[in-house]
Amino acid sequence: MSVALRTFPTLTSLQTALAQGQLSATELAQDCLKQIHAQQALNAFVHVDTELTLAQARAADASRAAGTAGPLTGIPIAHKDVFVTQGWRSTAGSNMLKNYVSPFDATVVHKLLEAGCVNLGKLNCDEFAMGSGNEHSAFGPARNPWDQRCVPGGSSGGSAAAVAARLVFATTGTDTGGSVRQPAALCGVSGIKPTYGAVSRYGMIAYGSSLDQAGVIAPAAADLVALLDTMSGFDVRDATSTEQCRGVTNAPGRIQSEFKKASAHYLSQATLPLKGLRIGVPSEYFGVGLSPEVGAAIEAALVQFEQLGAQRVSISLPRTRLSIPAYYVIAPAEASSNLSRYDGVRYGHRTSSYTDLADMTGRSRAEGFGPEVQRRILVGTYVLSHGYYDAYYLQAQRLRRMIADDFQAAFAQKCDVIMGPVTPTVAKPIGGNQDDPTADWLADVYTLGLNLAGLPGMSVPCGFGKSAAGNPLPIGLQIIGDYFDEGRLLAIAHQYQLATDWHQHSAGQV
Ligand code: GLN
Repeated sequence: MSVALRTFPTLTSLQTALAQGQLSATELAQDCLKQIHAQQALNAFVHVDTELTLAQARAADASRAAGTAGPLTGIPIAHKDVFVTQGWRSTAGSNMLKNYVSPFDATVVHKLLEAGCVNLGKLNCDEFAMGSGNEHSAFGPARNPWDQRCVPGGSSGGSAAAVAARLVFATTGTDTGGSVRQPAALCGVSGIKPTYGAVSRYGMIAYGSSLDQAGVIAPAAADLVALLDTMSGFDVRDATSTEQCRGVTNAPGRIQSEFKKASAHYLSQATLPLKGLRIGVPSEYFGVGLSPEVGAAIEAALVQFEQLGAQRVSISLPRTRLSIPAYYVIAPAEASSNLSRYDGVRYGHRTSSYTDLADMTGRSRAEGFGPEVQRRILVGTYVLSHGYYDAYYLQAQRLRRMIADDFQAAFAQKCDVIMGPVTPTVAKPIGGNQDDPTADWLADVYTLGLNLAGLPGMSVPCGFGKSAAGNPLPIGLQIIGDYFDEGRLLAIAHQYQLATDWHQHSAGQV
């Protein structure tokens, strides 16, 4: 663990330390880089460039000396390798893009850089973000810092592992079907996937464009506020991005203000800070497949919320199980279209020997894409093909609407937020499901619905289970909100974290 991040474990304490000159951005970056190097076994980072990082850190220090520093100036951050970055390689965890260096920064990268964050490098992930365990990376699996024989979760596995090991303060991730929430849950850190459209997708290497959304991971919910606030907002380069956020429209700092407003509201009722909050608990999230240790930790968290004044309401999301077939038709369909651009002609891997153009494209794709990506492309091409489009793709789109309607009915009639597990079990051993490539897909049952509906969701640490070797492995509580209700989600998670200390544990310290 970085000494600085151990000494200043929250964003606020780190901001104060930087502002008061207790440490410089350069010292902090050097300390983090040392730890990244020492913890290479985690395989969390796929590209580190000391010179590029230190140049950003020196710029942060110069800006502080000049009196132009902002709240995030000097904060160390790292990006999932699906965000393109100028200077660093951008691989999406794939041999297809092994040596690709983007000529521009993704909007998320650009905004955080403008705010003064210092980029520590690029993080391991499943190839093109396809996976739930970070096992499908061309650069080998990332490892869970709590037990290195286990997966960190995916696809943003490097992002969660790096924060859990406190190699860096915060990381970006992407969530197409759970990839911010799942690894955050399995690594014991806090992560948020905002409403679809809240954060620009420009420069995010595409997987399933109607589902992909950028998110952020940090130790605690309160840490996420300033980061999400900086990342979000309308971007002319992404037509699906929006400025809208409940209650505050077109106002800079809208999530911050929502968060503050919501926090002030809850804090004003000091003894019962969550009084009146209606928490919907879907019966479908607690059926067959949920491991007893995860079920018990979620139940304990719900009891804690009740003690804090919230009210538990039983709800039903009847199409929950159908989110798996719906998602695994729609996401591969979009992926097969998005990934058709990797033809060996313009950029990406090109095979060394071929006979003609078709042969060159075929060989380049066969060599560049790993097995999971090829599987998804095959599924996607099949469901979009003539004769099957109506039977699979259109049916899946109809289901998608019904799944979104289920959430809307719950919010309209019964509850303010929804809570449940993120994953059915704690982290699994690496290589566990090798014989059945689709077994992992089932573990996405609690996360996919939000992406199909476009809703925001979080994962916050809420307990521990055990690995086969007896090591503690974290469990995450999922908090789901209505559209653009990120402020409320963050405030609720913050209240929970004021009352509990699960988020304060870091790997190796329980
Ligand atoms: N596990 C899901 C998949 O493999 C979700 C991945 C993601 O959110 N990027 O498609």
